[in-house]
Amino acid sequence: MQLITKSSDETKKFAAEFAKNLKGRDLVCLYGDLGSGKTTFVQGLAEGLGVKKRVLSPTFVFVRIYPLESRKLRLVHIDLYRVEKPEDTDSLGLDEFWSDPENIVVIEWAEKAEGLLPRNRTNIRFKYVSEDERLVVIEKVI
Ligand code: ADP
Ligand code: MG
Repeated sequence: MQLITKSSDETKKFAAEFAKNLKGRDLVCLYGDLGSGKTTFVQGLAEGLGVKKRVLSPTFVFVRIYPLESRKLRLVHIDLYRVEKPEDTDSLGLDEFWSDPENIVVIEWAEKAEGLLPRNRTNIRFKYVSEDERLVVIEKVI
């Protein structure tokens, strides 16, 4: 499935809708260049899940965790931008995050963990179309 969003608000709105179908142990992998809209998508996702805190890019800490108030779940936002070597990704223990039934995990720059990613996830690719437009391609991996 794919769509073109015409503003960052539209990307957030789409993400908030998408969030309604998420449950514990779900993994969402985000791909796309810098500025293509990955973090914007996560902000919408968080909004849709009822997270009140502002979602910042976890570029320096690699992970931020947002407990959901309404359910016994957490939104785990991982950003692998700073990870340079695949060996570095190995040592992060990422599988601990996505094997936890109380976690919904979303990863920016998921290609940096490619060999570690389990099946049964959703890949979302973002592409810059014009200043305010992004192509969003969603693919379920089974
Ligand atoms: P990434 O995390 O992929 O590096 P960000 O979400 O941080 O990207 O940045 C996307 C930038 O593009 C933001 O400044 C946002 O306002 C802008 N933008 C413009 N149009 C869109 C759109 N349709 N969807 C998402 N972001 C958009
Ligand atoms: Mg980002």
